[in-house]
Amino acid sequence: MTGSGFSTAFVLHPASALHDPGWGHPEHQGRLRALAGAVAADMLALHGRVAQIEARSATEEELLRVHTPEHLDQLRRLADRAMEEERSIPWDSDTLVSAASWDAAVGSAGAVLSAVEAIIQGHVRNAFVATRPPGHHARAHRAMGFCLVNHAAVAARFVQDRGWGKRVLILDWDVHHGNGTQEIFYDDPDVFYLSLHQFPHYPGTGSAGERGRGPGEGFTRNIPLRPGTPREVYRESFFRALEEVREGFRPDFVFVSSGFDVLAGDPLGDQQVEPQDLYEFTRGVTAWAEEVCGGRVVVLLEGGYVPRRVGEGAVAVIRALAGLEAPEWDASPRQG
Ligand SMILES: [Zn+2]
Repeated sequence: MTGSGFSTAFVLHPASALHDPGWGHPEHQGRLRALAGAVAADMLALHGRVAQIEARSATEEELLRVHTPEHLDQLRRLADRAMEEERSIPWDSDTLVSAASWDAAVGSAGAVLSAVEAIIQGHVRNAFVATRPPGHHARAHRAMGFCLVNHAAVAARFVQDRGWGKRVLILDWDVHHGNGTQEIFYDDPDVFYLSLHQFPHYPGTGSAGERGRGPGEGFTRNIPLRPGTPREVYRESFFRALEEVREGFRPDFVFVSSGFDVLAGDPLGDQQVEPQDLYEFTRGVTAWAEEVCGGRVVVLLEGGYVPRRVGEGAVAVIRALAGLEAPEWDASPRQG
């Protein structure tokens, strides 16, 4: 990719599409197909502003900044076994490993690092990365909640290790609490974790009282929201939380864990958010990032289990990143 006219990178590692927990699993291969199809269908609007860039895989060394060697060994072992037995192997009750899962997870993490590199090299200002499987439940030492590798965490450490930023904000609007991300940075004052999520809900963590530990105290902020929270209340909560974080933290780089399961109608969530809201949230985040860190924002895909809605959400977020108008929604509105 050449030229500096592009504002936004769209990144998808080809292996991400091959992770295969089965079509009966909510996190099936159709999610990414729908996302890529929706982005392709919007190319007329995105043309000249959004460029697809190649993704590399993460190295073992980059993954080891977050995950234990035992965790990576186990992931590789289960993927090998899945290949031999020609079936997906359960890691826990809802997390499956298929033959392609190692490549998908390591490719997805690498895709986020490729996005960071493209921003640092000045090819683009920001990026959207279609990671799969999702990452925010993955803990340092174990997979969990469909997640194998914590892409956002690996990317935050990568930014720090390369000396491209000290303070990193990870903003997570997936409908579930990102327990893995929170845990990895719980005592770290340089990585602020802000999460809005349904509560009580899977995985059970994310109460307002969880605020970090030791030097990291005050650098975790959880906004638990009741099932069925009215759309306006969610919007107000989002902008208030962003304002609060703004007052106390000045990031050098921003990652957004974007779960489209926060959208109304998702089978694994019960919130009323619409793609238009995510468009405005993204505009709010990028406007702040333009002020404090040269607009360095990478949005990465977490959950979202209605494929059509994953596509709509991704287009809304990408349009906002690229500074384009919000899409006109032709689907019948579901005002909450
Ligand atoms: Zn989720």
